[in-house]
Formats: sequence, C-alpha cells, structure tokens
Amino acid sequence: MYDVAVIGAGVTGTSFAYKTSKYAKVLLIDAKNYSKQIPERVNIFAQHNKPYVDDLFWNDKEAFPKEFLTLNYKSEKSDGLISGNEFGSPQVGRITHTDVFLHKLINKAVDQGATTKFNEKISKIIRHTDSIELVNSKGDSYHTKLLVLASGSYGFELQKSLGFEAPDSFMGIYLISNASEELLNENFNFQYMFHLNPNISKNGPFFFNVGKGRIFTGFMGDKETPMELKSKLERILNNYQKIQQYIKGISWNFDNVVIGDISKHPISRMTADRVIVLGEAAGLVTAFFYEGMLCGLVSADTASKVVKPLVESNSNFSSAELRVYDKEIAELLLDGYFRNGNACEYLFYGNQSSLKSIWNAYTEMLVHNKTARKYVYEVIMLQDLKKYNTDNDRWVGEKLFSTLPTINKITLWPKFLKAMTF
Ligand SMILES: Cc1cc2nc3c(=O)[nH]c(=O)nc-3n(C[C@H](O)[C@H](O)[C@H](O)COP(=O)(O)OP(=O)(O)OC[C@H]3O[C@@H](n4cnc5c(N)ncnc54)[C@H](O)[C@@H]3O)c2cc1C
Repeated sequence: MYDVAVIGAGVTGTSFAYKTSKYAKVLLIDAKNYSKQIPERVNIFAQHNKPYVDDLFWNDKEAFPKEFLTLNYKSEKSDGLISGNEFGSPQVGRITHTDVFLHKLINKAVDQGATTKFNEKISKIIRHTDSIELVNSKGDSYHTKLLVLASGSYGFELQKSLGFEAPDSFMGIYLISNASEELLNENFNFQYMFHLNPNISKNGPFFFNVGKGRIFTGFMGDKETPMELKSKLERILNNYQKIQQYIKGISWNFDNVVIGDISKHPISRMTADRVIVLGEAAGLVTAFFYEGMLCGLVSADTASKVVKPLVESNSNFSSAELRVYDKEIAELLLDGYFRNGNACEYLFYGNQSSLKSIWNAYTEMLVHNKTARKYVYEVIMLQDLKKYNTDNDRWVGEKLFSTLPTINKITLWPKFLKAMTF
C-alpha cells in the first residue's frame, strides 16, 4: 500500500512526487515511457517560479542552462521589449530544458524512495473504504491511501469517473529545433516572445522560447484540425515576414511537431475523499498567457504541504481535511493572480478586430511608458503570489483605453468597463 500515488509525470506530478517522497511512500505513474526518453522542450521560468523550485535544481546548469533577461510582447506594429536591466535586476528568471529538469526531479524522487512505473496507463480507479485501487491497462493493480491526479489534458475520463469536472480544452502545436548558441544569440535579442496576430489565432499567442542551443516555437490554435495546425505552423515559419529575422539559418523538421490539448478555466472543486486534482488537469493554466508551468509548481508545492501532516498522522484524507488545498489555491492563484488573465482573455481573445487594435495599443504603450514596463517586471519578479497587485492592472487598463483611437474607444468601452470588474 502506498501513502500517495501520482498519475502523471509532467512538471506537476514530478514536482509533487519529489517534494512528497521526502516524507511519504510515493508511487509515480505515467503512460509514456519516461525511463527511455522525455520529449525535449524549452520553457521560461520567470523569477516568480523560484519559490517553488528548490535551489538544488534552480542552480543546476543542465536543467536551467540559460538566464532569462528580456521578453518581447510583440504585435505586428511594435516590439514591447522588457529587460530586467532597466529596473535593477538583469536576470528576470531562468530558461529550463524541461526534459532535463523533469529527469532530475524523477531521479531525486527515486533517491528519496519513490517508486516509478512508466509506460503504464491507468484505465480504471476503484474506491474502497480505506484505500483507492488503480488498475492499469494490463490489469495490474496498485493500492494507495491518497490519489493525486496530475494527468494534464490527456482526456478527463479518470477524473470524471471520480465525480470531478473537466476544465475547458483548447489545442496547441509546438516544435523544437537545435541551433548553435552563437546563431541564437545573434538572431534573438530576447528569450521569450509572446506575439498576438488574429491571422494566426484569435485565441492565443504564437511564441518563441529560446533555450541554449535549442529553440522552441508554436502557437495556440483556433478550432483547426491537427493537419491544419501543422500546415499553418509550416506557413508561418516559412513565410511570415515579422519573424523571419529571428529564424534565419534555423531548419525545422515538421515531422517532429507535437499537437496537444491545453486546458484552462479551473474546475470549481479540486479535492474529494482521498483524491486531489493538480495542475493542468484541474485547469490551472492562466487564461491569457497560458502559464501552466507556474501553476503546476504552485499546485504541487501547496498539495505537498497540505498532505504532509495528514501522512504523519495516518489520516484517512477526508475531503474536509483536503479542502485546505482548494482554499490555499484560491488565495495563491484564483483570487488574485488569475484575475488579470481572466480580464485579458475577455478583452483580447475571440474577436479579430479588437484583438488587433488593443494588442497593438498595448505593445505601443510598453515601448513608450516606463510605468507599464515596470508593472510587467514586478509581476515577473513577484515572490509572494498572495501579494499580486490588481490595482496596477487597473491602472494599465485605464491608460490603455485612453491611448486607443477614438473610433475604437466608441466600440470598445463596454468591454473595458466589464474587464475592470474581473
Ligand atoms: C503549445 C503549448 C505551449 C505552452 N507554452 C507554455 C509556456 O510558455 N509557459 C507555461 O507556463 N506553460 C505553457 N504551456 C502549458 C504547460 O506546458 C502545461 O500547462 C504544463 O506542462 C502542464 O503540466 P502537468 O504536469 O499539469 O500536465 P502534463 O505535462 O500534461 O502531464 C500529464 C502527464 O499525465 C500522463 N497521463 C495522463 N493520463 C494518464 C493515465 N491515465 N495513466 C498514466 N499517465 C497518464 C501523461 O502521459 C502526461 O505525461 C504550453 C502548452 C502548450 C500545449
């Protein structure tokens, strides 16, 4: 019998397994064969992720091989560049080679006593009075006192079978390529680009995450089929003039594209008797920037702290005891940090012309207004998410509205008024 079984070895599940295996008997399961290979990725870890990543990993030059110095909120008109240098701290985070980071988290969890089962898909969950039984597709069973679902957006059958809701799902595509460090340094004057263009998608960004000798790109889709997503990414990388300066000399193998669901809009309840749903499986991804990494880390850290005294007192992990997790996630993420994303999602996404005009105005404002840049910097650097300042967002919203052309003001004022209430 395990104290805790975790389904899903993404950033959420591995981070939770690492933290929890310090005090509990942990089983970590994934349908993918992670003991062979973890797919390569590059992700941006802004400084606000640091409280949730142990120094052991944060200072590891293989897992976090590059400094995050500059971001580019780019529109068709402007490059809204924000650098830590302007505000006193050159480094605003780290770039992770996510597969290496996950590999190290898993190894450390195993060193601490965790058991891993890879290449095993859990197909059924059975509740017993004093345990939960997980059955894999080969028919093997595992028993656990507490089940943690960190299964991302890979179908929501398991959580639905336990009475949980499923968040809303969208589709994204990404592709990684290797390129020399010199070439990447020459081509890019930033490490992260978030670019909105309604011709690419009305519902999300096109992005670049620049790693060390690796470049990661893709976009959030807009109801296309997987084939359409793939051919659109090919067209963008081959023909879209606004980005050609960054990718000259880089070659892409489009056979390696990954198309996957991404979920947002958190479910209303994330705990029940003997079960917690973590990370993207619970819809913990910010609605505008699609920040799932931070949310996965926060949810893993919070759950690990909630579970510790319960393991130590041999609790039966009642829903009333686990409820503390929902409350803490509301305070850390939903009631503050997520509000900006919800308002921006409402303001920017879904409508072709408003997306274009408001995003153009916002990036232009970043170019000319130091306070607006400073507010973005402060969010990136925030070390206590409970201190997220929604007044700054309101200030930016009002300023942004005042800079819109009169014609846009007339049509967009009801949207802005409503966004202010989020
Ligand atoms: C195109 C794209 C770009 C993105 N860009 C960013 C970004 O720049 N910044 C950012 O913060 N976030 C980004 N995200 C989101 C972020 O990557 C995810 O939110 C995050 O990785 C989710 O982590 P997770 O551990 O919760 O879930 P996942 O990483 O999805 O892990 C879930 C795991 O559960 C396993 N699993 C599922 N069901 C079962 C089962 N029945 N049995 C066994 N195993 C199972 C799966 O195999 C999988 O490995 C992006 C997402 C996409 C699609």
